[in-house]
Amino acid sequence: MRGKMVQIIDGKAISAAIKDEVKCEVKALAQKGITVTLAVIQVGNNQASTVYVNNKKKACAYTGIRSLAYELPEETKQEELLSLIRDLNEREDVDGILVQLPLPVHMDEDEVIRAISPEKDVDGFHPESVGALCIGQPGFLPCTPAGIIELLKRSNIPIEGKECVVIGRSNIVGKPMAILLLRENGTVTVAHSRTADLKATAKRADILVVATGKAKMITRDYVKPGAAVIDVGMDRDENNRLCGDVDYEDVATTAGAITPVPGGVGPMTIAMLMKNCLESAQRKMKRT
Ligand code: NAP
Repeated sequence: MRGKMVQIIDGKAISAAIKDEVKCEVKALAQKGITVTLAVIQVGNNQASTVYVNNKKKACAYTGIRSLAYELPEETKQEELLSLIRDLNEREDVDGILVQLPLPVHMDEDEVIRAISPEKDVDGFHPESVGALCIGQPGFLPCTPAGIIELLKRSNIPIEGKECVVIGRSNIVGKPMAILLLRENGTVTVAHSRTADLKATAKRADILVVATGKAKMITRDYVKPGAAVIDVGMDRDENNRLCGDVDYEDVATTAGAITPVPGGVGPMTIAMLMKNCLESAQRKMKRT
């Protein structure tokens, strides 16, 4: 017999609502003569990066944010990229600077990220943004984990007091996710490849966030009945089709709520990027 129907968390609809809210506020700023601007830098022509960059430009066009595209050749020298970033840091009309990762192997990603002014760090990757997040001060939040908090809130899934387990500890997803859940008063466990008993750990979770990059690794025996399962993974299955880190069909039989792939976490990342650009322009207004 089937139990209660699983709640499918609709990242497409929620991200569309956020983009519409941003669009509205961008329009209000435009009426005051302020144009929100994002500079997007891509070095080389990694195919996946081109897709991501195009999606970001599309979201800018939709929300009314002006995007400035810098497409630099693969052989660009680190110093040239740093010099472009310094110019963009200085420009009054630029609110956000985004350098699409990964960079070509001859470049030092950490140095490039550090060169971006924290005031324009809309990806939230600068060490100052990460530090601010850790000690609870204002700063830009990394888009994917911030998007997951929005998904939970707008799906009426409470975080406070809940057992939250994050599988994965990367700097862009797992670690900031854990800190954000903690900020929302969850009780947080971070699991990873050296966790002794992953199934038992994951099964404690009321909210399980999976960011391992391992296609369909999480089956229902990792999931407490009724838990909310958030799948960050963007992987390929045996037929080369896009799938997540969670075995959706299997886990949906026991979870209380679940994000699909595609259409779950993915679209939230770009919506939160748009939100960060808007916030940057609003903060600039307050400073001046
Ligand atoms: P990552 O840097 O490769 O980190 C993966 C993490 O998972 C590591 O901490 C690793 O543990 C852990 N892990 C790997 N295999 C495991 C296993 N068998 N059991 C337990 N833990 C395991 O990946 P990431 O950048 O965080 O990305 C994770 C996934 O999210 C990828 O599929 C990526 O494409 C996707 N992603 C999606 C978005 C989006 O917008 N939707 C954004 C970013 C990433 P160790 O630290 O011990 O090695």
